Amino acid sequence: MAYLNENYFKLKAGYLFPEIARRVAAFTSENREAAARLIRCGIGDVTEALPLAAREAMKAAVDELGDRATFRGYGPEQGYSFLREAIAEHAYAPLGCKISAEEIFISDGSKCDTGNILDIFGSQNRIAITDPVYPVYVDTNVMCGHTGEADEGGAYGGLVYLPCLPSNGFVPALPLEKVDLIYLCYPNNPTGATASYEELSAWVSFARENQAIILFDAAYEAYITEPGVPHSIFEIEGAEECAIEFRSFSKHGGFTGVRCAYTVVPKNLMASSADGKRHRLHPLWARRQSTKFNGVSYPVQRAAEALFSPAGQAEVKALISHYLGNATLLREACVAAGLEVFGGINAPYIWVRCPEGVKSWELFDRMLQEANVVITPGAGFGAAGEGYFRISAFNSRANVEEVARRLAAMTW
Ligand SMILES: *Cc1c(COP(=O)(O)O)cnc(C)c1O
Repeated sequence: MAYLNENYFKLKAGYLFPEIARRVAAFTSENREAAARLIRCGIGDVTEALPLAAREAMKAAVDELGDRATFRGYGPEQGYSFLREAIAEHAYAPLGCKISAEEIFISDGSKCDTGNILDIFGSQNRIAITDPVYPVYVDTNVMCGHTGEADEGGAYGGLVYLPCLPSNGFVPALPLEKVDLIYLCYPNNPTGATASYEELSAWVSFARENQAIILFDAAYEAYITEPGVPHSIFEIEGAEECAIEFRSFSKHGGFTGVRCAYTVVPKNLMASSADGKRHRLHPLWARRQSTKFNGVSYPVQRAAEALFSPAGQAEVKALISHYLGNATLLREACVAAGLEVFGGINAPYIWVRCPEGVKSWELFDRMLQEANVVITPGAGFGAAGEGYFRISAFNSRANVEEVARRLAAMTW
């Protein structure tokens, strides 16, 4: 008899995006006109064309593969050094971070890396997760048995939830209990908030004092426009002894469909075995990747490298300006509608408080029916997201302008 992993039964059936899709399908199947007018500001996926620099590099790489003399088969599991060197030089050196190419692991996405990283950690860790949160961190812990069952509010037994609210600027207070693994994501999905040097320094100090590790997701680092906001956890002194950083080209270069990301595991990062001895994590992640992963395709790694060329950097900047321009319009439209708005300045997400007494799924249905606009209900990101909704700025300018008009026409 073959047995299955029963932890999967603990996952909530009404997972956020399938539930959104179900409600949208139910509404549009009965409202043909509304279906044609529908604008999706829900899922965080880019919409604009891939930068030319990346496309040209990809095409040239494909042609290299078409010639026996320049053909390449399996690449290094950790990624080609041309890309790892480019990342160290362009993404970390300018920040003053001493991250070497050997500490960078190329992958096909931060979603998989943030899930896969659990392979190298023990099952006895106390896990701290912000609330609201990117659901992947929670579900991957559920799948590998790090939690109990979910309660009615969707909170899993065994996890330590760190509430992120307007009162703390959506950066959680340090926990009073001992935790071992801490997921932080700044600029944040879904709240669009950033963490300051002081706030991240407090977390790094906490992690070092408790021999804990911070899993830092910097997927939206490129959207930081304000000065004085840290782009990397490694800008904080001592973080290379207590943090792993995940970064992705998905939102940076519009690569959600191309697939390329990287994870930084510092050489000095240690964790404990059950006997209390300290060991380096870098060789474990290298072993995990070389056993279970065979690298990202060569044309894709060349495309990612090209994003750091002068032409590529200019295109990335224009792409991000486009999305952040959308965010400004959406922010202004919500403010004009009398709503309380957060985020959207250093992130492509706007986090909006629902009108008094309105729950987030109720607001989702109203926006769908009255404005034919799909948003993401805050409650889908965790209990502390109740009473909020997220609008994504990933869209065409014309769609965003239309959403702004519809927000103004709605009766709040
Ligand atoms: C979009 C996103 C990512 C990127 O995931 P990929 O698998 O690299 O596309 C990572 N973390 C968060 C929080 C995101 O929103």
